Amino acid sequence: MRSLIAGNWKMHGLGVALSEIEALRDALAKNTPHADVLVCPPASLISRAAEAARGTVPIGAQDCHAEATGAFTGDISAEMLKDAGASAIIVGHSERRQYHGETDAIVAAKARATWRAGVMAIICVGETESERMDGEALKVVSRQIDGSVPEGATASNTAVAYEPVWAIGTGKTPTSMEIVEMHAHIQKKLADRLGQAAGGVRILYGGSVKPSNAAEILKLENVNGALVGGASLKAVDFLTIIEAAPAS
Ligand code: PEP
Repeated sequence: MRSLIAGNWKMHGLGVALSEIEALRDALAKNTPHADVLVCPPASLISRAAEAARGTVPIGAQDCHAEATGAFTGDISAEMLKDAGASAIIVGHSERRQYHGETDAIVAAKARATWRAGVMAIICVGETESERMDGEALKVVSRQIDGSVPEGATASNTAVAYEPVWAIGTGKTPTSMEIVEMHAHIQKKLADRLGQAAGGVRILYGGSVKPSNAAEILKLENVNGALVGGASLKAVDFLTIIEAAPAS
């Protein structure tokens, strides 16, 4: 399976940051990567990033509203993001769940919205530190998969990102055994839920992936790519992570 290395810029980036997209574009045009690549800048940069990428670096979004249009001041629909140049949308990131009260049902509605618009959903799941300490990690992620991954998910319209909340932006990462255990669990849950359609749905790992640990994480069983926050902001770091993806 071809890996997907997706960058989440979060709320970072003014126009000047487009030089990072240009640097990525030039590097990837010279050396075709083993992995699929995606960069999700803030919504304000999507159309300019897509222009700067000139088709070499797919551009994504970090969130969408579940409806296509309507009286939802400040929100942006999946259709609008696609129109701006996005080919994928992250939904259910833990920062959305935590700071915007997004429930599994909301996340599922947003995932369906991405499909309606004809773009891919990257659906995020992951336990908090206290849930892991309490031995609840597998149970929590099971519940999130059941609630957030709608029926109809396929390899072409969906990827699932396992992002332990306690590893995001903290420099902490789970052990390789913990990652392998959770990815196997997610794969089984997806197969139970979606049957044959689950085959090929990529399961990304996210949480403090950096140039120094990417190769070790990306070679693990059932790790089909990475969702990268901080280390995706600089093209030079993100390129090192892309290069660490094993050939499929
Ligand atoms: C993320 O934002 O999804 C993420 C994993 O962040 P970081 O790589 O900075 O931990």
